[in-house]
Formats: sequence, structure tokens, C-alpha cells
Amino acid sequence: MLYNDSSFRDEAVCDPQSNVVAAPSSLPATAGSHPSPLPPLQDQFGRTFDYVRIAVTEKCNLRCTYCMPEEGVDFKKGEQILQADEIVRVIGSLARMGIKKVRFTGGEPLVRKDIVKLVEGAASTPGIKSVHLTTNGILFSRYAKDLLSAGLTGVNISLDSLDADKFQRITRRTGVEKVLDSIRLALDLGFPRVKVNIVLMRGFNEDEFPAFCELTKDMGVTVRFIEFMPFDAHQIWESGEHFASAENMVQQLHTMYPGIGETSGTRTEHHIFQVPGYKGKIAIIPAFTRSLCGNCSRIRLTADGKIRNCLYSDDEYDLRPVVRANGSDDEVASVFRKAFHEKAKDGFESKKRSSVKRVNISDVGRVSMTQIGG
Ligand code: SAM
Ligand code: SF4
Repeated sequence: MLYNDSSFRDEAVCDPQSNVVAAPSSLPATAGSHPSPLPPLQDQFGRTFDYVRIAVTEKCNLRCTYCMPEEGVDFKKGEQILQADEIVRVIGSLARMGIKKVRFTGGEPLVRKDIVKLVEGAASTPGIKSVHLTTNGILFSRYAKDLLSAGLTGVNISLDSLDADKFQRITRRTGVEKVLDSIRLALDLGFPRVKVNIVLMRGFNEDEFPAFCELTKDMGVTVRFIEFMPFDAHQIWESGEHFASAENMVQQLHTMYPGIGETSGTRTEHHIFQVPGYKGKIAIIPAFTRSLCGNCSRIRLTADGKIRNCLYSDDEYDLRPVVRANGSDDEVASVFRKAFHEKAKDGFESKKRSSVKRVNISDVGRVSMTQIGG
């Protein structure tokens, strides 16, 4: 069943005060069945892909300065956005190609009222081993228990400042306590993986680097410092004054904790540390300097159903018509195969090769991480 516009009114929950409309309860028949495998998704460089990041909405209840302008962007909505059953069916096709991990992101995924059903649909897809969510944490307490029961295995909560005023300056909204409570709740409920994402920026929150590292003393979280990337709707990136490099972060960490040891993490967390005796870990993600591209295992799907083979490429492969025409798994797979056959070696090459040439930022429809899917 396709959800119609009124049963899928994700805008209804953009306001945290608004009532949550009950989510539709049925999902497609892929869940539970055991279809045969398809050849794995691979690119020309032999990289295989086992991880899909799916943006489920472009909307958000915050307005982080490094992501969106105060007035928002031109949000896609209604029929433009993939419906829950469409997303779950794409996950089913991907699972047949060897995809094991799903992350729901956005925009803010928790403004979508059927998020629990989406998690349930993904988690019950044969072959899917983990289902994670990236959220700003504002609405997390409302859904946490249901998300856990639905099969959510990990949550990344974004928090760029521990200080209420600075939080408000960065997000243009209040809520630091709600976000901190969400992190504690995720740990208390026993989510297998709890991570905190921080976009570290000079002149905004760089001075909080030590305080965030110290969170790992008593909290079993991975605190992940992410380099600021030029997907900020052209508000503050261009000046160049806010960029803090991963290299400097690593140096600072060694200065703060002489002899700190490296430990293991995910493929993109290749700078990952643990202070001896501390419960949590510290990861530094070179998202802009792109030394992680050789390990890339990610597929990105935008909320309106476009495949992106690299964060830094503006080329897109439209999956929505194939899904809406009830295409077979092979047809869905062939759109992914084309996209990944054309994937460049790294993010620098992607930018160069992109057939969409940006002269002005407005030349391309997607100007913010909220439209690409962070
Ligand atoms: N709204 C959710 C959140 O904030 O966690 C999920 C979507 S958000 C786009 C996903 C991640 O992208 C967040 O951790 C956010 O901090 C990060 N992000 C957004 N814009 C960014 C930028 N210009 N550079 C680096 N990271 C960015
Ligand atoms: Fe919203 Fe996340 Fe973008 Fe902040 S980073 S404006 S919370 S989508």
C-alpha cells in the first residue's frame, strides 16, 4: 500500500509541540521472506558497498548555521518524498545485493511520524544486520523505547555545544538539555551503539573540544568530531574562517592526553582513540580533507529518491520512477549499479568529474546537508 499525502504528513511533526499523528501500520511484503542473493554492488576500483544512508525527510526542527538558513530551504514534500513502503522495498533490493547496514538520516528523521515503522521494516528485512539513526535528539525521548523495540541498533546524536547560549547561537533554537537527556536516555535504555556527532568549527565551538573529550570519561559513548564541509547553503563556509582540520584535532588530542592510544572503530573513524580508564571513545572524521575515501562503503539515497554515489558529486541517479513503476529488484539494482559503476576514486575526483557544474551555489538544487542527507 502507498501512503497518501495525508497519512504521511511529516510536516505535522516539525513542530515539537504538535500532536503526533498515528503512523500507518502495514509495510510491504518483503519483510520476513528470504529472497535469493543478487550479485554484490561494486565499483570500478573493487570497493564493495554494504551500508546505505537514507534521508527520510528534508525538514528539520533546528536551523544549524552550518547546515540551513533561518528561513529553511525549498523542502520537498508529499509525493515528492519516498513513502515508507517504497523505502522498505528499496532496502529489500539492496539487502539482496549484500547491503547489511541501514542508517536513517535527513533532515531530521524524527520529524517523520512513521519513523518507527521505517525502522521496523528495515530491521525485519532479511540480510539487514543493523539499523541506525542520526538525529539532533530533540524528539528522541518521544520515540526512544519504540525505536529500540522496533530494532534500532544504534543512534548518533548531534550536539555541537554543551553551553545553552552557544547551542542556541549554532542551532537558532533552544534545547541543549533535551539533547543531553536524549544521550543519557539512549545509554540507559541500552542501545548497542550511542555516538555524539560534533561539527567542530573555529569561532563557534572549537574551545569545547576538551569538554567533549571529557564526556567519554564516564559515558560509554563515542564522541565524533567531524570536519566542517561546504554543504551549508552558502552561509558561512565561504569565509574559510570556521574550518578546523582533523589534523589539528588529532594534534590537540595528543597534547591533552600524552601517549593516548588508537583503538578500533568503523571504516570512516580511522582516527579513533580511547583515553586509558575512560568508558567511551573519541573519533575524528576527516570529512572535508577526505583521507577516508579509499574506505568508502556508503550508498546515499536522498529523501526524494535520488542515489548519490559520493557526497562530493552533484550527479544523481533517479530511483523514484523505477520504484513508483513497481520495478523488479533487478531493475532497482541496475540503477544502483550504474551509479556505483560511475563512482569516482575519491571525493576530489568526484567534484571534478561531476557533470553538474556549479558556477553559483544556486546552480544546483541541493545546497544544504539537509537535502543531501548527512
Ligand atoms: N538532523 C540530524 C542531525 O543533525 O543529526 C540528521 C541530519 S544532519 C544533516 C546529519 C549530520 O550532518 C549531523 O551530524 C550534522 O552535524 C552534519 N552536518 C550538517 N551540515 C554539515 C556540514 N556543513 N559540515 C559537516 N557536517 C554537517
Ligand atoms: Fe537540522 Fe541536522 Fe541540519 Fe541541524 S544539521 S539543521 S539538526 S538537519
